Amino acid sequence: MRSCDNAATMTAERRRARALLPVIGPGMDQRPGLSGVEPSALEAWLAARGEPGYRSRQIADAVWRGDSTSLDDVRTLPTGLRAALDEAFRFDTVDDTDVRATDGGLTEKALHRLPDGSLVESVLMRFPGGTDRRERHTLCISSQAGCAVGCPFCATGELGFKRDLAAAEILDQVRHAARRLSENRRRLTNIVFMGMGEPLLNLDAVLAAVEALADPRRFGLGARHITVSTSGVVPGIRRLSAMGPQFTLAVSLHAARDSLRDVLVPLNRRWPVAEVVAAARDHARATGRRITYEVTMIEGINDTELDARAMADLLRGDLAHVNLIPMNPVAHTPWQASAVDVIERFAATLREAGISTTIRRNRGQEIGAACGQLAAERAGEPAARAVARRRAIIVRDSAAALRGERNRRPVPAGVGE
Ligand code: SAH
Ligand code: SF4
Repeated sequence: MRSCDNAATMTAERRRARALLPVIGPGMDQRPGLSGVEPSALEAWLAARGEPGYRSRQIADAVWRGDSTSLDDVRTLPTGLRAALDEAFRFDTVDDTDVRATDGGLTEKALHRLPDGSLVESVLMRFPGGTDRRERHTLCISSQAGCAVGCPFCATGELGFKRDLAAAEILDQVRHAARRLSENRRRLTNIVFMGMGEPLLNLDAVLAAVEALADPRRFGLGARHITVSTSGVVPGIRRLSAMGPQFTLAVSLHAARDSLRDVLVPLNRRWPVAEVVAAARDHARATGRRITYEVTMIEGINDTELDARAMADLLRGDLAHVNLIPMNPVAHTPWQASAVDVIERFAATLREAGISTTIRRNRGQEIGAACGQLAAERAGEPAARAVARRRAIIVRDSAAALRGERNRRPVPAGVGE
């Protein structure tokens, strides 16, 4: 890793490059990642150096198509330009990736180390083809290191918020997976923002990343194959609706009753469930795309007939699809997944109300690789006393919620106005 420069020693080259992207954070290599630089900005940078316009195409090919892992490998570019690029930009913002496979090689969890030492994870899931469906390769990526929302069933939420990722740091998770797949002549077919972090609390970088992913000159994946999941940041949903169809929006609903959702998704205390669903409904109307609602099924907490009926009443008649996902166990909660027959009954209640509903099998559970449930182990084994205290709070809060009491704890810091 290169050391960080201060303003006094920074060369003109680097200053120009820095102006192209927001600085990622103090104390780290501050060169912007090349994958996050917009083509027009790169063209301007090249023009300022007197380079011909076609170099931008060559650079995009090296970043997005080839199997190069450093600018040194990009022989199509002259040595001088390579050196200038290397001084101004990082070819890759991921310093190191540790890949672990499970499910007989069908699921791979990648732990990425970023320039400041932050660790984020991505999960690659291979779905073999069948007679009636094509083979799919879905990558689940992170948009933040940690998360401020603090959902009590989520390993990332337990870590708290560390920082937003830059667009290049989001994109470089994709480039790593694409490189691994290309070794077997395979391509990514779907990308979901369901890893660490709340994408709509880092919306500018997420939108820049989606633009690069959908751009045929860069990654070139159809926007329909990209899904962004949110825990319900209403202003973010409204901003997306105003922009028109960008990608599939998934909303993590988990409960239709405010008292319970206050506990399961703490930002519900800021944007209650009716506001979230109203924004999602308007989004479906504005874009013509149905909303996917995710419901993590937790035994004895949100899986009752009362909850199923409340959800059916909330979503009846909407352009919506519900995905029921058995909860993956995490250390700091006493909760576990609902039983299969309970999930099936819940699904039947929703379907009777005319709501399309599927039950998702968890992938990669044994390596803790379920999307949205990443990164706990790297924080080390939590101290037994702290875990016990945390569990006791979760039990107390959920018991009060089940009695219908609203939660009075403050909205988590960093969740926004
Ligand atoms: N912050 C965003 C996206 C990342 S979380 C959001 O909450 O939507 C992605 C998904 O994983 C969410 O639907 C989340 O509820 C789910 N998830 C988190 N922890 C889980 C767990 N322990 N078991 C099952 N699903 C979980
Ligand atoms: Fe954050 Fe999503 Fe985890 Fe909630 S489920 S803590 S919003 S990452």
